[in-house]
Amino acid sequence: MSEVLTGCIHIHTTYSDGTKTVEEISKIAGEVGLDFILITDHLTLKGYKKGEEGFYGKTLTLIGYEEQDAANKNHYLIFGLEDVLDPELTAKEYVAETDRLGGLGIIAHPDEVRVHLPKYPSYPWTEWNARGFHGIELWNHMSEWMEGLKKYNQIKMALRPRKYLKKPTDRILSIWDALNENQKIAGIGSIDVHGFPYKLGPFSITIFPYKVQFKSIRSHLVMPGPLSEDFETAKKQIYDAIRECRIFISNYRWGDARDFRMWVETPRTRVEIGGEGDYEDEAVLKIILPEAADVNVVRNGKSYSKFRGDSGEIPLFSPGIYRVEATKQGKGWVYSNHIRLK
Ligand SMILES: [Zn+2]
Ligand SMILES: [Zn+2]
Repeated sequence: MSEVLTGCIHIHTTYSDGTKTVEEISKIAGEVGLDFILITDHLTLKGYKKGEEGFYGKTLTLIGYEEQDAANKNHYLIFGLEDVLDPELTAKEYVAETDRLGGLGIIAHPDEVRVHLPKYPSYPWTEWNARGFHGIELWNHMSEWMEGLKKYNQIKMALRPRKYLKKPTDRILSIWDALNENQKIAGIGSIDVHGFPYKLGPFSITIFPYKVQFKSIRSHLVMPGPLSEDFETAKKQIYDAIRECRIFISNYRWGDARDFRMWVETPRTRVEIGGEGDYEDEAVLKIILPEAADVNVVRNGKSYSKFRGDSGEIPLFSPGIYRVEATKQGKGWVYSNHIRLK
């Protein structure tokens, strides 16, 4: 029976522009019940080099880093490498090099647009011709929040950072669906947390404290068995799950989604999220949600079936790549990766 690990991805520490140490952040993650966190400081693997990866209580902390190009665009999360890559590389080159070295690479905040406050520039992904990336951020808390930020609503948004999250953009979801027609590309959710103080006129407040961010966008990994207690094995299990797209993401603000399940059942087999099987007559997509929501089943990038409720059995009449989106009052709650039927 599969089990689900819940974690947060894209975290900055004091080794770059974050405000807490690896140890402090890992402890906070444990307090809110996260099974794993993935740390990605800008252009440094200092925490990794100092041996700060490992289990902190029950929380597994893994350390990669966030790459960028000379123009400070094309941010890229890299895991599993021993060293930071040559800073002269172009985006196309660091994507290819990460893959060649056996690392795991994820495109960060691909869709960032910040039009309202010129003080905070955006860092979108522009190098779509790059080959060899393994995943993309479908949803990044920090970039969505910054996009919504306008002069008149700064205080409101800073005080209730999670309330203003809507959902991944249609543009990114359709890019992701199209990529998946030919290859497996993981869709992850990110928090991009720094915990930095933010000046609002005379006030300085911490927007996005780590603890609050850990209760927003989460990535859940569907595991074939329990996480190993052996660190190196556990690390490989986490990276393999991401590479194999055994993922769904959620916004905890609208409910704890770790009990979400989705699979395809045929008279002969069962295919889980991220999995691949042969299409057979009588294939049924089964969905279980911890709470009722508006559910949209997507096949090959197009809406295939919709219902409202906490469970569903959707007959499938043809091969394709299937995924599920669940919203509550129009706000994004759960987004699965694809199940492929050939
Ligand atoms: Zn970034
Ligand atoms: Zn970042």
